Amino acid sequence: MFDVQRVREDFPILKRKINSYPLIYFDNAATTQKPQQVLDAERDFYENHNGNVHRAVHTLSQEATDLYEAARETTAKFIGAKNSAEVVFVRGTTEAINLVAYSWGIPNLKAGDEILVSTMEHHSNIVPWELAAKLTGCTVRYGKVHPDGTLDTADFEGKFNKNTKLASLSQVSNVSGVINDVKHIAKVAHEHGALMLVDGAQSVPHMPVDVADLDVDFLAFSGHKMLGPTGIGVLYAKKPLLEQMSPFEGGGEMIRDVTVNQQTERCGISWNDPPWKFEAGTPNICGAVALAAAIKYLQHLGMAEIFQHEKELTVYAMEQMLSCCTKLRLYGTTDASLKCGIMPFGVEGLSSHDVALFLDNYGVMIRSGYHCAQPLHQVFNLASSARASFYIYNTKEEVDRFVKILKEMEQF
Ligand code: PMP
Repeated sequence: MFDVQRVREDFPILKRKINSYPLIYFDNAATTQKPQQVLDAERDFYENHNGNVHRAVHTLSQEATDLYEAARETTAKFIGAKNSAEVVFVRGTTEAINLVAYSWGIPNLKAGDEILVSTMEHHSNIVPWELAAKLTGCTVRYGKVHPDGTLDTADFEGKFNKNTKLASLSQVSNVSGVINDVKHIAKVAHEHGALMLVDGAQSVPHMPVDVADLDVDFLAFSGHKMLGPTGIGVLYAKKPLLEQMSPFEGGGEMIRDVTVNQQTERCGISWNDPPWKFEAGTPNICGAVALAAAIKYLQHLGMAEIFQHEKELTVYAMEQMLSCCTKLRLYGTTDASLKCGIMPFGVEGLSSHDVALFLDNYGVMIRSGYHCAQPLHQVFNLASSARASFYIYNTKEEVDRFVKILKEMEQF
């Protein structure tokens, strides 16, 4: 049984008051708060085990290496990866997608090739492909989105052809919360001989995600959106792909041997095995260790239970918002079966920043702007939106207070 009050006790920040009001944190799609278990894991690492990884024979280096590699195992199991070598630690979703665009894309793409993304993507699943297109001459194609924010699946599938080399799609939109059937799209991609990348930034923290079941080639996600620290994220990739791909950055740890012949001034380099081939320099060791603590916390609650909790909150919030506030507009689909706990909205006559600032006065944190997804806002015919997004510690009582403040806002 999911006990939200019990969960809340683990989050020290939830005791904060803002302008003497209890903090209500509804900006979870941007980043999430951290439970004591994650804070303790970070502190324990620096207090007791800090050393650099894979380098020295001394005890602390061994302990740090063991913890770092154990974090990789935990992460691999969490997403159903067969082999922990398929988990590359990166800074976050943005770096993971850039890594694929540079290390797989640039050596493999040429003029005439196509990359297929959708119009609902976060800029970090658009811009790296446009940069790769500039360097390789390939074309980026954009699958259409319906006015309600759902993917036009027929259009997306219809855009696959023999030139499509990779489809890159978010599993959950960071603006509308719409869930895409990436398992089906991966199948279609493979039928056309294309690879499939899933942007899991908004799905991995909120629902069960299993790469073997989805049969995707790449999965990108960020630790900070799932109770972990900033600066740590994951690129999952099938091992044969990682073996073929060129390194992303050069430096220590990503090589096996570097030799320089002083006479000829020739340098010979051989790469380390994946995943280390993609982890040049000192990685975010403590971040990985704390991410593993976050994953264990989420696993303890159960990903299916987390999804259910957020779904119930979303249904409740949408009902309350629509029935209580006449000037309020929900953007995108209101069919809860198509989405998870992210709700874009607006209040007639007010800018999204005005809405967010008004709520902030009462201790309610939401996001305003275009949420790094301008093309989707163009589909909605909006310059910006307000966005409330839920996580494991949010409650119906918080939704009630949020709606009460929205009602007050309407009086102005
Ligand atoms: N994709 C999606 C769908 C996102 O929501 C985000 C974060 N807002 C990103 C990518 C980028 O994540 P990060 O900033 O952690 O790299």
